[in-house]
Amino acid sequence: MRAAASIEEIVERGLCTGCGACASLLGGDALRMDMSPEGFMRPRGQRPLDKGEQQAVLEICAGRAQHGAAPAEAKPHRIFGAMLHLAKGHATDKEIRFWSATGGVLTALAVYLVESGEVDGVLQIGVASDNPLHNEPRFNTTREQIVASSGSRYGPSAPLKDIAALLDSGRRFAFVGKPCDVATLRNLALVDPRVDLQIPYMLAMVCGGNPSIAATYNIVRRFGEDHRDVDEFRYRGHGWPGRTYLHTRQGRAHSQSYDETWFSNLTYELMFRCKICADGTGEHADVVAGDCWVMEDGKPSHREAGDGWNMHIARTVRGRQLIEDALVAGYIHEEAFSVAELEAMHDDHGTKKRSVLWRLAGLALTGQPFPCYGGLRVVQAGLAASWRERWAAFRGTLARSLKRRNRESPITSGTFVPDTKTS
Ligand SMILES: Cc1cc2nc3c(=O)[nH]c(=O)nc-3n(C[C@H](O)[C@H](O)[C@H](O)COP(=O)(O)OP(=O)(O)OC[C@H]3O[C@@H](n4cnc5c(N)ncnc54)[C@H](O)[C@@H]3O)c2cc1C
Repeated sequence: MRAAASIEEIVERGLCTGCGACASLLGGDALRMDMSPEGFMRPRGQRPLDKGEQQAVLEICAGRAQHGAAPAEAKPHRIFGAMLHLAKGHATDKEIRFWSATGGVLTALAVYLVESGEVDGVLQIGVASDNPLHNEPRFNTTREQIVASSGSRYGPSAPLKDIAALLDSGRRFAFVGKPCDVATLRNLALVDPRVDLQIPYMLAMVCGGNPSIAATYNIVRRFGEDHRDVDEFRYRGHGWPGRTYLHTRQGRAHSQSYDETWFSNLTYELMFRCKICADGTGEHADVVAGDCWVMEDGKPSHREAGDGWNMHIARTVRGRQLIEDALVAGYIHEEAFSVAELEAMHDDHGTKKRSVLWRLAGLALTGQPFPCYGGLRVVQAGLAASWRERWAAFRGTLARSLKRRNRESPITSGTFVPDTKTS
């Protein structure tokens, strides 16, 4: 059992989350974020790193360890972690609710924080200005900018790639991102006290894993379009869950349902790090929000259901206070939602969490490094797995590791080249 010993090992053994914090900390002469040949945001080495630089990265990287948990202010649920407050809800603003991924709770909370003067701005990702298929970090200070960054972007993002400069600027801001991005910020807080002072609110979405950018290019090709012609692309939103939508400079438009995007014959590769993730439900965040799916025959249905509903969880006292304040100020609406409903609706995260221990065992047996998940109840959850679940997770990861399918290109290799053939 061992943790990765260098940034090269983190990247090459598929443990990097792609957040960009390492590149921000060491600067562009050492590391730059770019799309790797596999289609993930990865640090690209510009020169060899010295021992001190390696150590600085290893201390904060969530690919190596997640140890900066949000304070456990409630007894954690075995799968879903600490829940000081659990509800279903949505943004009260109709526009936010319509545009956003689900019910717009994350966007509404971010808007509330800016408009109430709690923070100077919000660090989050949005559509890249030079490519509608890619993402880039934004420091948003107005409602319009925050709303324009709403929606789920199922592709690589590096929201922390400018975090060092933002901390140096002295500004106070909220963060919205994936659970692993928040985990890195909590790690950073352990070595840089400015994080807790300047980033009082960390919000996350529930995350089942982030695919390679190749998945997005595959969608474009499946619509019979060339990616260079695309001028607008969204994965969902504009309704709930909202259709995947593409528009070209020539005026052609295409769309397909959520299930056609994710559960038809589209091939997509999730990051290996996502397959061994122990924190899909954002345990390090102050508030985490996911879908509150319509249930049909005991299972979540992804059919278009009109106005969206989130389920959201406050993990900390500060997060619970934020929700109470946003309710009083009229930014969000909420209704009762039980733990039993959560367990039934997000059972995929139960399966995932129970499998982590056995996946890590597969890596350990083959001498591969893996992240240390302090406080995320990996053993407790793993022991609740059935023998069938244990064997499937262990055998799958063992085979993947033996076939070197957890590996990625070295940090000195080139960038992603999209396939331009249309289908
Ligand atoms: C990769 C991925 C996996 C997901 N997996 C699940 C899942 O397993 N279960 C589930 O219930 N829901 C999942 N979602 C949907 C997500 O939970 C919804 O965004 C959430 O319901 C919040 O809804 P909202 O309407 O409040 O979000 P919005 O108000 O639309 O806000 C979404 C926020 O997320 C940020 N964001 C979007 N994409 C990214 C990204 N790639 N990296 C960093 N920040 C991003 C946006 O900048 C915005 O601030 C996933 C989303 C993504 C992007």
